[in-house]
Amino acid sequence: MNNNSGAILVLSGPSGAGKSTLLNEIIHDIGESYFSISTTTRKIREGETNGIHYHFVSEEEFKQDINDEYFLEYAFVHGNYYGTSLKPVKRALKAGKLVIFDIDVQGNTVVNNRLGDITTSVFISPPTLSILKHRLEARKTDTQEVIDRRVSMAKKEIQRISEYDYLVINDDLEEAAQTLRTIALASRLKVPMQDINEFAQKWEDIEQ
Ligand code: 5GP
Repeated sequence: MNNNSGAILVLSGPSGAGKSTLLNEIIHDIGESYFSISTTTRKIREGETNGIHYHFVSEEEFKQDINDEYFLEYAFVHGNYYGTSLKPVKRALKAGKLVIFDIDVQGNTVVNNRLGDITTSVFISPPTLSILKHRLEARKTDTQEVIDRRVSMAKKEIQRISEYDYLVINDDLEEAAQTLRTIALASRLKVPMQDINEFAQKWEDIEQ
């Protein structure tokens, strides 16, 4: 059965787990995809570009977008709002693309509730908490206070790994990338419930 209706790949995991690096490693090997650019009220970091990494907006603008039902899901993470715009996601799914989300555990719950039949979720984790701390400190993009907040958030997020289809431990980059590549390719093959039902109905039409 061919699946031309697109699928969703959710990537979650603590900041510093290496989600973006892993995604860059595999993005050219997984067919046509669309990376969902979230909207956030967080301050832009050095090296980030508005419209590429995030759409950076004020809290007022974000709240207006919530009222306008602009988001598929949104959440308050590390003291800032983050949200996934619905329209470009719909468009990409219609075009048969694999839509990739980098969202937190709260976002994963919503996406699974709304679009679970075409969603595959992956939790990406560094091997240990101390390695995570070390990576965040080496990145030099956050203050110690922000790092401490991210670390304590990570401890909570880890408790919810069981809500994900897959766990990828990012120890050896090549190995983790290969695992994620395999998962991403398989995630494209998920078939929407509606198509399965239609197939089952047609299948029963075969003459006896
Ligand atoms: P960062 O500030 O490091 O870019 O992201 C912080 C956290 O927010 C990460 O766990 C990331 O996955 C999550 N995040 C980014 N965009 C979204 C979004 O649109 N929705 C939700 N629920 N989480 C998001």
